[in-house]
Amino acid sequence: MPKSYKELSNACTKLEKHFREPQDIEFTIEQGKFYLLQTRTAKMSAGALVKTSVDMVKEKLIDKNKALTRIPAQQLEALLHRTMNESKIKEHKQLAKGIAASPGAASGIAVFDVKKAIELGEAGKKVILVRKETKPEDVPAFFSAEGILTSLGGKSSHAAIVSRGMGKPCIVGCAELKINYDNNTCTANGITVKDGETISIDGSRGIIFIGEVPTVEPKVTKDFQTVLSWAQKAKQLGVRANADTPDAAKLARQYGAQGIGLCRTERMFNETDRIGLFVEMIMAESLDERKQVLKKLQELQKKDFIGILKAMEGYKVTIRLLDPPLHEFLPNPEELMDKIYKENDNSRKTKRVLDRARELAEVNPMMGHRGVRVGITYPEIYRMQITALFEATAQLAKGKINAKPQIMIPQIGSLEELNYIKSIYDDVKKQMQQKHKMRFKINFGTMLEVVRACLTSDELVNTAEFFSFGTNDLTQAVFSFSREDAEGKFLPEYMEKELIEISPFQSIDVNGVGHLMKIGIKQGRDIKKDLEIGICGEHGGDPNSIKFCHSADVSYVSASPHRIPIAIVAAAQAAIEQKKKKSKK
Ligand code: PEP
Ligand code: MG
Repeated sequence: MPKSYKELSNACTKLEKHFREPQDIEFTIEQGKFYLLQTRTAKMSAGALVKTSVDMVKEKLIDKNKALTRIPAQQLEALLHRTMNESKIKEHKQLAKGIAASPGAASGIAVFDVKKAIELGEAGKKVILVRKETKPEDVPAFFSAEGILTSLGGKSSHAAIVSRGMGKPCIVGCAELKINYDNNTCTANGITVKDGETISIDGSRGIIFIGEVPTVEPKVTKDFQTVLSWAQKAKQLGVRANADTPDAAKLARQYGAQGIGLCRTERMFNETDRIGLFVEMIMAESLDERKQVLKKLQELQKKDFIGILKAMEGYKVTIRLLDPPLHEFLPNPEELMDKIYKENDNSRKTKRVLDRARELAEVNPMMGHRGVRVGITYPEIYRMQITALFEATAQLAKGKINAKPQIMIPQIGSLEELNYIKSIYDDVKKQMQQKHKMRFKINFGTMLEVVRACLTSDELVNTAEFFSFGTNDLTQAVFSFSREDAEGKFLPEYMEKELIEISPFQSIDVNGVGHLMKIGIKQGRDIKKDLEIGICGEHGGDPNSIKFCHSADVSYVSASPHRIPIAIVAAAQAAIEQKKKKSKK
């Protein structure tokens, strides 16, 4: 039917030129006559959106700004991670649903024991580590596992943060999944999975399936890189990474991050040789004992800093001093009691550990002895970290490496706290300048993650050289609920009952948290006009929050490495949309 074919072809060209979008066209040919029935913009996968954007720019149908704004940034996630093959999902039973904590799909045998997961992973088996929660000493198992599943915890729990840093799929807070360590099984919805049985997890949606769901590999195509390069030029917001290891920093840089907005030093203690020392340091009962451990830690920490600063050479790297959730690192007194009882252990050493663990246990860890409060009660810890950073910087300077470290203090609520730590910083700086006969430029700044810090930013700015909003803690503080409890216990129902549209931990609550941020920004910039103000909570990778940050004049967002491309595109979209609005006015 050459005549009809030509008519169809002409219609397609005309419609696509008119709508400037690929069309989904319905037509019929009856008794040789061509009828066009319907046309609408085609539904497209992320890959198709990227390809058609680049194609249409080449064909001069649209400009680069239009090409960037027609791609929902969030959808790009599918191009960066392995995804489940949609057509095969229905062949698998759903076991349970939890919180999507780190995107990507993975399958493997369920393993409940950390040591076993390491052994099997190293032997080449595909493993999904299934735990109630994870602790820093479990990190070696993260390396050997394909994915991580926990029944407790929220998006900023240990399992979630470490998985995101490593780019491993992870589901947390799966409350309906009952894990039994006695017989190594987990049960949900009447289905029991035994140790060694295969499961699949979709970390982008938080769903667990029985058996092995086939996956589709991600593809960073040339077209995707083209779109990213356009976005880099169009955006005004800086995009940095939340990275705690040299590998995460390298990956973030490949994806286009220009600096590290948050290096959580407590997450650098992941490796097995550090974690034992870290616990020893906190558990130490006297200053002398602690100083002994700190000496060893300082060397290791210096090495870690060198690695991460090298990986981000030329860009700012914000090193945040220790903010350890103590309950994650220290022995749990109840578990310890249980062990003592089972093993009939009456030794003095064990009793002392138990006493110290009880002494350090917090009633409310979210508002407990953390961040700068640990830095003030044990000043030798922050002194060690500051010294290690100066030593690392000196060594890099001697090797002509352009390192740009800055120091950031967590959980600050008052100028007095900040000044207390600043005096340690000043003292170390003086000593280091004398020792190394060089001048250091290491900016000293604070997080704004405590409500009082936002409200008194005009005071803090007198000491702080930069601010960074910790919107994870700020959201918890503003709502007065903990993320773990909210996401695990009542937020889903709030959403079902339409009391809340989207989790404030996912997208910034503009009216509450955002309002407080605006106060913090205005008061700071009224005194220091060019003050650098970033955001390093998980919201830094969320497109809607990025839009808010752009409008609030935040200097940069910091996101986990795998969200960097999304953040870059979202930042570009925010800039383009604001320009468009202004020109309309
Ligand atoms: C925050 O509170 O937003 C933050 C980045 O710190 P953390 O998540 O480590 O508490
Ligand atoms: Mg915080």
